[in-house]
Amino acid sequence: MRVGICGAGTMGRGIAVACLQAGLQVLLYDIRSEVLQKASQAIAQLLRTVHERGKLAESPENALQRLRTVTTLAELIGCDLIVEAIVENRSAKQELFRALESLGISPQTIIASNTSSISIAALASVLHHPERCIGLHFFNPAHVMRLVEVVRSARTSEQTLQRALDFVQRLGKTPVVVRDIPGFIVNRVARNYYNEALRIVVEGVAEVAQVDRLLRGAGFPMGPFELMDLIGLDVNLEVTRSIYEQHFYEPRFAPSVLQQQYVDAGLLGRKTGRGFYPYDSNG
Ligand code: NAD
Repeated sequence: MRVGICGAGTMGRGIAVACLQAGLQVLLYDIRSEVLQKASQAIAQLLRTVHERGKLAESPENALQRLRTVTTLAELIGCDLIVEAIVENRSAKQELFRALESLGISPQTIIASNTSSISIAALASVLHHPERCIGLHFFNPAHVMRLVEVVRSARTSEQTLQRALDFVQRLGKTPVVVRDIPGFIVNRVARNYYNEALRIVVEGVAEVAQVDRLLRGAGFPMGPFELMDLIGLDVNLEVTRSIYEQHFYEPRFAPSVLQQQYVDAGLLGRKTGRGFYPYDSNG
């Protein structure tokens, strides 16, 4: 099976590793060629790490041979499934989908989006074959987290759904079929985790580190601010904005001015070396 991945950022890299671990061929595309070079190095490092942990049945060098980085979309023709993991922006994703179809990819190729919040029906609406479109929402880090939300839109065919479920299971992950609502299940619930924590800090009720410590103490593996730093404050803000807009500006989903200030300042979390917390160069 050959999998195309569009977007070689945080998620594209993790999804690539998950596919390589499962023995699949991976073609990784990004609009920025310098990102592809960094992504190859990061994927090689992740493969070494999963190998050390006994989660790779072959040598990292062998697995890496199934990865090919590509600089044109046309090279994705022939993939059985293409996972889109580019920026969380509806128009950008739609433009990519249009471009993929106009290149003449087979109607049998599944086009999946890793979007955190955007309507799959809206993304599928630009396709001549909307029945091939589905949401495959992986979680970060994608090669570690087992849950994948499989988002079926009103236009997704039964065959696409079954093939997508088979793919997720082949990766050794747990698919959960969800309806096509803004933020699906996890990100809709998670908005409250982030937004309420941001409000607590803005109102001066507690400090960032106190909120994280308390919620970890309550059993969450990561506090909300640590988690936003891991996800990327820019990505997280875009998801909040998208869910807010799609709920017709319902106040409980409103983004925080504090988060916007961090994004404006370029303090995006681990990937920039500083977000709510400082990090060394290895994150
Ligand atoms: P990222 O910013 O780390 O990476 C995005 C990559 O897409 C960048 O390398 C960028 O150069 C590339 N890109 C942008 N436009 C492109 C285009 N038109 N064609 C090809 N490449 C393009 O973002 P990310 O965190 O990997 O998120 C990607 C998607 O996954 C988003 O939709 C996001 O909501 C979703 N997601 C993110 C997380 C997370 O924790 N970060 C978790 C689940 C889902």
